[in-house]
Amino acid sequence: MENIITFKNFNSFYGNKQVLKDININFKRNKISAIIGPSGCGKSTLLRSINRMNDEVSSYKTTGELIYENKSIYDKNLDLTIFRKKVGMVFQKPVPFPMSIYENVSFGLKIHGIKDKRKIDKIVEKSLKGAALWNEVKDELNKSAYSLSGGQQQRLCIARAIAIDPEVILLDEPTSALDPIATQKIERLIEELSERYTIIIVTHNLAQAIRISNYMYFMYQGELIESGLTSNIIKAPKIKLTEDYLNGRI
Ligand code: ATP
Ligand code: MG
Repeated sequence: MENIITFKNFNSFYGNKQVLKDININFKRNKISAIIGPSGCGKSTLLRSINRMNDEVSSYKTTGELIYENKSIYDKNLDLTIFRKKVGMVFQKPVPFPMSIYENVSFGLKIHGIKDKRKIDKIVEKSLKGAALWNEVKDELNKSAYSLSGGQQQRLCIARAIAIDPEVILLDEPTSALDPIATQKIERLIEELSERYTIIIVTHNLAQAIRISNYMYFMYQGELIESGLTSNIIKAPKIKLTEDYLNGRI
């Protein structure tokens, strides 16, 4: 099955304010999909709808369908803990927990019932390696996560997402606070991860979306304006609004 996540006529609201408008998207498995668009257009809201992080906002309501491998994400019978094991997320402002590096990575494992210390040790090592952070922290796993640099904290949050062995990783502006070198590291990491995971990344950095994504989804004021293969969209956008965005006019 090529598609993993599908939005069908999906609308969403914070109270009376409509934020997502008739969204129709098929996210492709094991590809990097980038959601782009100006600030406030609904990118984070769309991403947070996928793993139902917006359940925390009591005024948030949705209509239409959001489907994960043939099952509705908003189904009353969905077991959210099991579902979230499939969909890991790194937030727009990733904040490590006020714990050690080791505890940050192993935190989610306990929730998912993994208690064996040796097994946890192995997963922590594998996840930190997966997030290209192991070599930098292997001798100081018990140090506070706050002793790490911004870029290291970002990779730590990616390691935390990988640790639960998800199928999908949602990344909200994973490099917005980083310098060019750290950004390059994360971008390379995302490309590597896409061999094993479906990656959906929100970024207002257009150059970054062009560099790393296979598919691009351009949003404007809550609507999906244009989507398709990144190479096609940048070569020949079909919609004037997309062209204006690509040329920095909006
Ligand atoms: P940015 O690029 O600045 O991160 P974004 O595209 O991610 O922007 P969202 O955070 O999804 O945009 O916000 C979309 C709209 O929804 C905005 O108008 C915002 O004010 C509104 N919004 C977001 N979160 C909430 C909330 N918890 N309660 C009410 N309105 C919200
Ligand atoms: Mg956002």
